[in-house]
Amino acid sequence: MILRLTFIALAFLLLSRCATVPLTGRHQLILFPEDQMVSMSLTSYSSFLKENKLSTDAVNKQRIKNVGARISKAVEQYLAANGLQDQIANFQWEFNLVASNEPNAWCMPGGKVVFYEGILPYCQTDAGIAVVMGHEIAHAVAHHSNERMSQQALIQYGQAAATEILGHNQSDTRKALLSAAIGMGTNVGITLPFSRKHEYEADHLGLIFMAMAGYDPNEAVAFWSRMANAGTGKQPEFLSTHPADANRIAKLKAAIPEAMKYKKN
Ligand SMILES: [Zn+2]
Repeated sequence: MILRLTFIALAFLLLSRCATVPLTGRHQLILFPEDQMVSMSLTSYSSFLKENKLSTDAVNKQRIKNVGARISKAVEQYLAANGLQDQIANFQWEFNLVASNEPNAWCMPGGKVVFYEGILPYCQTDAGIAVVMGHEIAHAVAHHSNERMSQQALIQYGQAAATEILGHNQSDTRKALLSAAIGMGTNVGITLPFSRKHEYEADHLGLIFMAMAGYDPNEAVAFWSRMANAGTGKQPEFLSTHPADANRIAKLKAAIPEAMKYKKN
């Protein structure tokens, strides 16, 4: 009886927390309130900025800000025109470049975007930056971190613990889940590989977002091919969370004609 009630309660919780991804229309499980995701992200973001040096490369810093501003503006306009502005209601965009040779980039829930200098040789051009920018912004707009944390909380901790995590805004478990879900890396033993589903969805949306901002989505094929040929030696963290293989490139190519329909000239 208790088990059954728990099941009903859980089913109710899941149904009441179902959301829909813009453009792709996919239904997703969202357990964490978005304002809490954003406030947790802001905390992580300010400690990240304290612990990591910003780049001193004024030219590239400005390029990141320009590409970020163009894409975020295009996304905002599109969502507003389609009555979906709630999707990013708590967003306060910021685009930074940090002094690190690691090839990496991420966008937090709430729109804080960080590029690492080490990804620029793979990006090469502004359109190459737009590939990564569009992809990372897509993860945030589609609330992938929340969905991954929600799935992980249920799988790893069961319903009782999920409720517990939901109730404590700044618990260490929750903070660790968040940094893992964003792709910042975490040293507390929780790994959360990006699911292929999220990766393909972020690629798909990212192509559309870069096209909306006037960049050529064909550049994505070139970027991911450079990533795939990143050479031997230690694999960059970004590649372990974003595998660049033939499947990915084939799916990108297939999604380009749709993205071109959104292209602003
Ligand atoms: Zn990704």
